[in-house]
Amino acid sequence: LLFAYDPAKRLARLKVNLEKAVVNARMIYEILDMEDKQRDAAGAAALVVDGGEIEFENVDFNYGDGTAVLHALSFKADSHKTTALVGPSGAGKSTVISLIQRFYDPSSGSILIDSQNIDNVTKSSLRQQIAFVSQQAYLFEGSIMDNIRYGRPDATDAEIIKAAELANAHQFILQQSAGYDTPVGENGVTLSGGQRQRVSIARAIVRNAPILLLDEATSALDNESERLVQDALEKVMKGRTTIVVAHRLSTIVNADKIIVINDGQVVETGTHASLSKKKNGMYARLNHLGKGGKAALDIE
Ligand code: ADP
Ligand code: MG
Repeated sequence: LLFAYDPAKRLARLKVNLEKAVVNARMIYEILDMEDKQRDAAGAAALVVDGGEIEFENVDFNYGDGTAVLHALSFKADSHKTTALVGPSGAGKSTVISLIQRFYDPSSGSILIDSQNIDNVTKSSLRQQIAFVSQQAYLFEGSIMDNIRYGRPDATDAEIIKAAELANAHQFILQQSAGYDTPVGENGVTLSGGQRQRVSIARAIVRNAPILLLDEATSALDNESERLVQDALEKVMKGRTTIVVAHRLSTIVNADKIIVINDGQVVETGTHASLSKKKNGMYARLNHLGKGGKAALDIE
């Protein structure tokens, strides 16, 4: 294991409410390494990441109730590039992000990272190579410093402050009553949505993983916050293999590749320029350019 630490001690120090920990298990797996269904295969090796290319090959998936969510889903996210997943709500975009982290396993097909089937590598080695910024931008009981340190428990204070600067969070953190020591979470100060997102981006920066998974928030931010979040995201995406469930038009337009997903299947692949030209394509139909800079790509 990369991080030699006692999860129980860490849990106590960060005063994570256990009930919330269950709710937020997806976010804090790397701290608690909680039991889940996906056991490591016998003799599983550590994932070795070179460029971090991610490939889905004919992935079928259902959540266990029999209803198929993904149908023979295939796509490739190129190393060091940004791949945006777009499509209607319920299409299966967030499910793709979950499967890459092995919160669930495909019912058939495979997911490869640099040609290694993630089924055959240890989950801890897989997750160490991934930074995940979720839609909810979770904060835990503890200080702002603690919350950023979740990304990498052995990060120094200087590394955390540097990450917060890159994430456009440093200024508002300094304005809090106790700066980086200000408590957040249920019993702490309330941060705005944009501030929470920038703390979670700082957490991803400090993690310094080659693969970045982003589930972009759908909730509207004010223009200033939006600009700060977008600027921070661009910095964290640089040089990494990024898969982003994209709602912001600027993210989609800047992506190297756009995968349009509908009903658990890939319906179109291209760039903003190429897909916009396909007048009868789903992307062109969903994309309402010029409407206040907001894409309508995640419609009901
Ligand atoms: P998107 O992110 O594109 O909006 P999701 O991947 O969240 O879509 O969901 C795809 C489908 O899977 C939807 O029909 C959704 O209701 C269902 N689904 C999502 N999460 C779960 C879950 N934990 N259990 C059962 N069904 C789920
Ligand atoms: Mg989603």
